[in-house]
Amino acid sequence: RLREGRALALDVWTIYNALNLPPDCINLGQGYMNFAPPKWITEAAEQALNSVAPNHYSHPRGRIRLREAIKNFYDPLFNRSLNVDSEILITSGANEGMYSVLTAFLEQGDEVILFEPFFDQYLPSVTFNGGKPVYVPLHPPASHIKKPTSDDWTIDMDELRRAVTPRTKIIIVNTPHNPVGKVFTRKELQGIANIAEEFNLLVMSDEVYDSLVFDNKEHVRMANLPGMWDRTVTVGSAGKAFAATGWRIGWLIGPKNLIQPTLAATTRIVFCSVSPLQEAAAAGLEQANQRNFFQIQRNEYTERRTVLTDVFDKLGLRYTLPEGSYFILLDISNVEFPEDYPFPESVMGRGRDFRACWFMAMEIGVSSIPVSEFYCEEHANLGEAYARFAFCKDVDNLKAAAERFQKIK
Ligand code: GLN
Repeated sequence: RLREGRALALDVWTIYNALNLPPDCINLGQGYMNFAPPKWITEAAEQALNSVAPNHYSHPRGRIRLREAIKNFYDPLFNRSLNVDSEILITSGANEGMYSVLTAFLEQGDEVILFEPFFDQYLPSVTFNGGKPVYVPLHPPASHIKKPTSDDWTIDMDELRRAVTPRTKIIIVNTPHNPVGKVFTRKELQGIANIAEEFNLLVMSDEVYDSLVFDNKEHVRMANLPGMWDRTVTVGSAGKAFAATGWRIGWLIGPKNLIQPTLAATTRIVFCSVSPLQEAAAAGLEQANQRNFFQIQRNEYTERRTVLTDVFDKLGLRYTLPEGSYFILLDISNVEFPEDYPFPESVMGRGRDFRACWFMAMEIGVSSIPVSEFYCEEHANLGEAYARFAFCKDVDNLKAAAERFQKIK
């Protein structure tokens, strides 16, 4: 499985890596920040590096200080008293956590339902573990909607129901959603939950952007819906929460019977996660509420989002206004480029959006991610109309990008 097809092709993060682009290209591609984590969090990392214990292996479940910080932070959000020994697991980034869940639960040929577009890593994570991805569309906004929001990307519960077979094991939900920015409504999540209950399915709920929900939208947690705690693993991320994507600290929250087998998988894959940075992530969660950190951060992200949407509005470009996460999908179907442009081999033979994004990075000086990567090969053409721009950058950086966008037309 590792030696064929798309698994072997360079992934989008490698192709559009800043190292492959001109040094002065403004990077709105891969979603990471151009600012540091808060000082009070990096100071905790320094302190940890200067002590003995946090420089050594953690318990495979994760350091107790971080598990306790997660418990204290999330207990009120899940309306329960989380057990730090059996219901919380620290992972090496959310990705590794999700991979471990799939390793723990998939048998060869088990089917996993993905809403398409989906965060690209889910696909190889499913197939590498012997699973078979099954796709249910997130329908794009109808063409008459001139200013769509992420809420205009919709799911059809009948399509979801029809996708279930006797081999279905897991539904992967991602709210707030990457790349669409959709914050699933309670009604949508309840519809998914009903199907999970009816067919006895697990739900892996990727909620890594849970702190980044805008416009007073409510982030509904799948595990909080009636009956869903027992069949849901919720995924969280210090990288998204604290501008520390390279730290690779994530966590899983769920019932013991789901966390225990996942612990067995993660122990074999990484044994434990980076110890000193777990201490820092703990400091982040311990102090976040008293510092009103997430509310302040949401306000900052709302301002960042506006820098891009203002320029897109001004230029008359159609985009999806995201209600969560830090990505904006821009309709690039009208962006023109010469087909004989010197594109690298990795970009040739892929969707039109791969070439458009490369061209924009080279000629406009702003990088983005082609959205066909978030679709399976058979449906890749559906993603070709979009480029994904990340706005997890400071306002000055985004304003500089906005200046350059004037050249799009
Ligand atoms: N979550 C990041 C993004 O969507 C990418 C993560 C990764 O490259 N593994 O930009």
